Amino acid sequence: NLSTKLDKAFKTLKGQGSITEINVATTVKEIRRALVDADVNYKVAKEVTDKIKEEAMGRDVLISVSPGQLLTKIVYDELTQLMGGEKQDIVIKGEPAVVLLSGLQGSGKTTFAGKLASFIKKQNRTVLLVACDVYRPAAIDQLKVLGEQIGVEVFSEPENKNPVEISQHAIEYARKNNKKVVIIDTAGRLAVDEQMMREIEAVKKAINPSETLFVVDSMTGQDAVNTAKTFNDRLNFDGVVLTKLDGDSRGGAALSIRAVVEKPIKFISTGEKMEALDMFYPDRMAQRILGMGDVISLVERAQQQFDEEEAKRINQKIRKNQFNFDDFLSQLEQIKKMGNLKDLVGMIPGMSKAIKDVDIDDDAFKPIEAIIKSMTKQERAQPELLNSSRRRRLAKGSGTDIQQVNNLMKQFEDMRKVMRTMNKMSTTKGGMQQMA
Ligand code: GDP
Ligand code: MG
Repeated sequence: NLSTKLDKAFKTLKGQGSITEINVATTVKEIRRALVDADVNYKVAKEVTDKIKEEAMGRDVLISVSPGQLLTKIVYDELTQLMGGEKQDIVIKGEPAVVLLSGLQGSGKTTFAGKLASFIKKQNRTVLLVACDVYRPAAIDQLKVLGEQIGVEVFSEPENKNPVEISQHAIEYARKNNKKVVIIDTAGRLAVDEQMMREIEAVKKAINPSETLFVVDSMTGQDAVNTAKTFNDRLNFDGVVLTKLDGDSRGGAALSIRAVVEKPIKFISTGEKMEALDMFYPDRMAQRILGMGDVISLVERAQQQFDEEEAKRINQKIRKNQFNFDDFLSQLEQIKKMGNLKDLVGMIPGMSKAIKDVDIDDDAFKPIEAIIKSMTKQERAQPELLNSSRRRRLAKGSGTDIQQVNNLMKQFEDMRKVMRTMNKMSTTKGGMQQMA
């Protein structure tokens, strides 16, 4: 499966201390191949892996985590994002609320209709199931059997061959009989077909459902994506139900469908039993696709530990009055990691107004970084060395001017002064965090 393939891909990185352009390129290629093998659409797989590469190049490798594990976490995050990030619920609204099901024959519509009805009934809402599959007499019986099993009434008109009429009648019936939610099961075909499309389009138009769901068999791989696209072009559905995930489905369809039709997956179906219905959680699906279990939490813990260790180290230096330009640079890196600078500053009360017209972007740090990077190792460790001739050299080396260098020196001195005062004032923990 994908998991073992990724394992192999990550082997390239094992034993290497850092993520570099070369080892990432190889690994990313392997990841792409593994995703395509798991039924992820090629174009989608390429987009994801390009993003993964970009993301990976910017990361430091953490102390207690291998590059492979870190990359796994990056892949996991990307996949989760790709599948929509957050779980999305179906919309059940109206008097009665109407849910319309669409999809090919055999995709699992009727089974899902029963599951959804049972699910809604458990929330203490009255449900009516509607049999609109007018082509196969057995289809009505199938729904009736399910309805009996879960204790939900089934509406059907065996003599009527017009699904628009049947669904309209069903909604009237629901109003009169105090059914709050109507679930309409429709007929499918073995393949996309114009008559079927027209029929379901007409039903949708006539009854205006609050939720139109497209049901698709996850085992059908790439076909699932094409079918989803065709149905969406015609129906503009609200969400997707991915069925038969209990089989040896590779799950890749979930990724591609979301990326191609830009509609959320709302439910997954994992068996023939009425209980086998789950909400769709993008993060859980990403885990399923990656099959990686503990790696994520491991990396998250390591990340925390890394940040904590760095903070501890800096605090110690502050306490010993040894804070130097190396530490300053490392603090800048930390701040940059936290995200957009303007957003960050904007979170400080009163500041968002003040900076409204000021152009702060992440480039604001660039000159400062350039100056610090122009310093020799010794100068960074002992800022006292920086006399005026050295400062002129820094300005030249960093493409700034002497005033910018002097400003930085002044700011840095002020900072150290504050730190010294703080050290005198208190022996409690703190330092940078308290200053912030
Ligand atoms: P429809 O033609 O779209 O209404 O599809 P059905 O609901 O009749 O399902 C077609 C077949 O797939 C039936 O044999 C179902 O029992 C089976 N099925 C539906 N959903 C699932 C599922 O999540 N897992 C498995 N293993 N089988 C399913
Ligand atoms: Mg059916």
